[in-house]
Amino acid sequence: MKTRGLAVHSGSAPLQPFEFERRSLRPNDVALDIAYSGICHSDIHQVREEWGPALFPMVPGHEIVGVVREIGSNVTKFAIGDPIGVGVFIDSCRTCASCLKGLEQYCENGMTGTYNSYERDGSTVAYGGYSNLFVIDADYAVHVPKNLDMAGVAPLLCAGITLYSPLKHWGACPGMNVGIVGLGGLGHMGVKFAKALGATVTVFSHSPEKEKDALAMGADKFVVTKDAQNLVALESTFDLILNTVSAQLDINLYLNLLKLDATLVVIGLPGKAYEVNVGNLLGARRSMAGSMIGGIPEIQEMLYFCGKHNITSDVEVIDADYVNTAYERTVASDVKYRFVIDAKTF
Ligand code: NAP
Ligand code: ZN
Ligand code: ZN
Repeated sequence: MKTRGLAVHSGSAPLQPFEFERRSLRPNDVALDIAYSGICHSDIHQVREEWGPALFPMVPGHEIVGVVREIGSNVTKFAIGDPIGVGVFIDSCRTCASCLKGLEQYCENGMTGTYNSYERDGSTVAYGGYSNLFVIDADYAVHVPKNLDMAGVAPLLCAGITLYSPLKHWGACPGMNVGIVGLGGLGHMGVKFAKALGATVTVFSHSPEKEKDALAMGADKFVVTKDAQNLVALESTFDLILNTVSAQLDINLYLNLLKLDATLVVIGLPGKAYEVNVGNLLGARRSMAGSMIGGIPEIQEMLYFCGKHNITSDVEVIDADYVNTAYERTVASDVKYRFVIDAKTF
């Protein structure tokens, strides 16, 4: 199927219009007309090869929402016209212990990324969501609640699930003091979910002008991190901290904010190492952990949770020809709070 999108051809090139073919439907496939595609900072890291050598040409995009236009002969999960979402992976081995638990993102044989990845045949390059059309195995797509605004749903497929999953795993609930570091695409979803789960939420940000927005999203407190003294005053007061920052930072400042037995979850992936002072861990039996997106059952659960609580991302909808500028603005932390591309403009 003829598809229009945007691609980069090298790690130093801008995105430009690109036409390519999507496969014809297999029995378990669905085809969707993409409505909106979110811009995740992971797209920028990969396009610029900040995580290592990438596959070019690359069509980025793993926050995809659209409408089913065609279904394969075996598909019962979706009907034509259904709103549908696709996230960070499009397949996995389906047989390992992680896949059998619905934790496909931790597939022991490697999940198949939505782009910058080979499909399971080992040779077909996967092209992502910056495009007008998508084809995917129905098992790896999810239902989107009809009451939600589609543009605001797209970022839920990565930014949303990436914060929902650790908040659930580490038991965010009333009485819990949760910190969210970085108020970007991921961080602002963390504020909304932590609040909806009843926790007390503090945002740590290096952008003082974001305070009003943070409080409007439900944060109880806003801490400007440019002055380290603001952090020192909060030592040993947090039950859980989620670090979503896309750049390197002094993680030790945040470890010290944890109470006894509390956990700091690293989610941002700058592609560079953190230096950890282990004394900060053992002084209060603190943990430092990682978390990556979420599996298909949990993405579906998260979307139904959003439908029930009327949660979507705060988005700035842009045309395809604005994407290179949107990348620059994202890197400069100038985004409120996710860029979403209108797929009609590809
Ligand atoms: P984003 O929208 O660009 O937000 C990142 C935020 O980090 C910025 O808004 C800013 O918040 C803060 N920040 C950026 N540069 C900073 C600096 N130099 N010093 C201090 N703070 C800085 O990015 P995103 O899409 O939310 O992604 C965040 C990170 O998570 C990326 O590294 C991405 O690759 C990664 N990620 C991980 C997963 C996963 O599964 N673990 C999934 C998706 C993305 P303030 O202005 O509030 O300080
Ligand atoms: Zn992402
Ligand atoms: Zn697997």
